[in-house]
Amino acid sequence: MLNSKCRMCGRQITFVKTAAGRNMPVEVRQEFYRVQADGPDTFITGVGKVFRGKIVGPNDNPDGFAWIPHWGHCPGANKLKSARKAVKAAKERKEPVFVCEQTTFMEE
Ligand SMILES: [Zn+2]
Repeated sequence: MLNSKCRMCGRQITFVKTAAGRNMPVEVRQEFYRVQADGPDTFITGVGKVFRGKIVGPNDNPDGFAWIPHWGHCPGANKLKSARKAVKAAKERKEPVFVCEQTTFMEE
């Protein structure tokens, strides 16, 4: 298991290998879940199985516990999305775009 820091928000994250062999960034702490096909949350187990469900408390009759992807809970993700949108809009208006060093990855 690989520990790392999210480059958007600086929070500690870890990686779980999905069944497809890709590393998925997840929250360090595992959550209790109940399986629910149309649930609001995505979960990934230690063997890389990804499924939908709902985060529940330990006393809410959970089906088990699993990791949750970091991208759904990253405080930096929304910021990045709106920043990307702002850069794109400015370019469409043919305005000069200034990006600070920290945000140069938006140009990728
Ligand atoms: Zn993050």
